[in-house]
Amino acid sequence: MIIRRSDLQKIFEHCEREYPNEACGILSGSGNRVDTVYSLSNENPSPAFYRIDSKDHFRVIREMREAGKELIGIYHSHTGSPAYPSPTDVTLAYYPEAVYVIVSLMDRKNPDVKGYIICEDTITEVPMNILQDER
Ligand SMILES: [Zn+2]
Repeated sequence: MIIRRSDLQKIFEHCEREYPNEACGILSGSGNRVDTVYSLSNENPSPAFYRIDSKDHFRVIREMREAGKELIGIYHSHTGSPAYPSPTDVTLAYYPEAVYVIVSLMDRKNPDVKGYIICEDTITEVPMNILQDER
């Protein structure tokens, strides 16, 4: 997955804002390149669980469709565990084509970010390529 540094920064800031609860959002773009970050609400704010607010979810899906973009990733934070999918994340991974981006805030000053494809209980890490922003 390819993501601009400024977009990654936006994700980190959102995760930090929601701390100690999990933050979540959607990444749209085309192919494997992110071009928009949607920071959404966690429907049941909790330090151990996330569910994208369903109204937000539908609104974003519609916006993406109108803009001709695809859902290419879903991000959420782990506030007390590593950037690796939890058993619940695997059970609730409904998008086999999306990259599940997990931000760990175990070290809040240096958030760790990793991406995974989760398909039928198989977890495959995908590299996160961070683009420096053009000026
Ligand atoms: Zn998780």
